[in-house]
Amino acid sequence: MIDNSIITLEEKSIENNISFLRASYGGKVKISAVVKANAYGHGIEQIVPIFEKYGIDHFSVFYYSEAVRVFNCLAKPTSIMVMGWLADDDLNDAIQKGIEFFVFNLERLKKAIDYAKNLDLKAKIHLEVETGMNRSGLDFNELEEAMDLIKDNLSFLEISGFCTHLAGAESISNHYRIQNQLQKYQEMFANFQAQDLSPKYKHVANSAASFVYPEARMDLVRVGIMIYGFWSSTEVFIKYVNHQNIKTDPLKRILRWTSQIMAIKEVKSGEFIGYGISYLAQTNIITALVPVGYSMGYSRSLSNKGRVLIRGYRCSVIGVVNMNMMIIDITNVKHAEIGDEVVLIGKQRKLEIKVSAFSDLSDELNYEILAHLPENISRRVIKK
Ligand SMILES: *Cc1c(COP(=O)(O)O)cnc(C)c1O
Repeated sequence: MIDNSIITLEEKSIENNISFLRASYGGKVKISAVVKANAYGHGIEQIVPIFEKYGIDHFSVFYYSEAVRVFNCLAKPTSIMVMGWLADDDLNDAIQKGIEFFVFNLERLKKAIDYAKNLDLKAKIHLEVETGMNRSGLDFNELEEAMDLIKDNLSFLEISGFCTHLAGAESISNHYRIQNQLQKYQEMFANFQAQDLSPKYKHVANSAASFVYPEARMDLVRVGIMIYGFWSSTEVFIKYVNHQNIKTDPLKRILRWTSQIMAIKEVKSGEFIGYGISYLAQTNIITALVPVGYSMGYSRSLSNKGRVLIRGYRCSVIGVVNMNMMIIDITNVKHAEIGDEVVLIGKQRKLEIKVSAFSDLSDELNYEILAHLPENISRRVIKK
């Protein structure tokens, strides 16, 4: 565990976001909490038990290894869904543990049937259909073949879901494409139903789609970014506030990332600071060294651009972000001392560093910044 910085997670915000989502979707829609990428950087082992405490009983991941981590930190048997990569070597284990997985081609379906037969158990599958994203999923013809295989092997399969993924619901520019996808999904589902097959859950929506296209909620929503307190895009947020006529953000960020001042230095006017010539002191300035760099998830593209909070002041990153350190201009901070808290993400007194602000500065999406937070930073939950 690395203690140069710490991530704290606010239980109260988790409760807030879950109850907001529940109230918005209504009681009939199941929430699947997406906890891929180490729970969007928040930490699977810390987040999953709290989600469970507030009633989440369906989890989505990308890798099988993440599914096993979720499995190991759950108190009760709960649905876990692998939306992506599952090696053949892990199929036995997945079927035995009752972990559900996407079937996105015929090869995967045949393997699932073979392994389930061998174990004399049912594989829990979600049929993913190709509706226009052209990434993964069964097309019309493959679905026909898949349905024949399924009907012949119903004692070894549980159809947990019939699903697809939409190509960018967070942006209005994709509106036409998404409408087409939703229509194609319904046509494919009609074919499926015509064969007397029915899934436990129909699902297509991520966070953005669940708000922009309420009809896309169906039986289950795969919510990632919003459960952590972030809107998928400014567009989705504006659409929501305009529609509801509210002024404040109903979501609350869960995560705060802080470090501390490691050293303080006075630098004379005319001196370069850090590597190379990327920052030249224009006056006499005072700098603080912070032991966080790009190897810790603080992007190098924030060189000379990033902002942090120290003693309630907003301060600039100066020079290039190093592998393990960065330098901050603290000339205007009164009484800064070694050991002072440095907020990299989150609130301090009246100010806040938002992940969305990083995206404005560096081209990195909020998703990307969160996913880059290393797993070996210590994480602590602030209990309610
Ligand atoms: C990541 C992912 C989601 C969640 O997306 P958010 O925008 O974070 O809500 C949903 N479905 C699939 C298939 C995903 O890969």
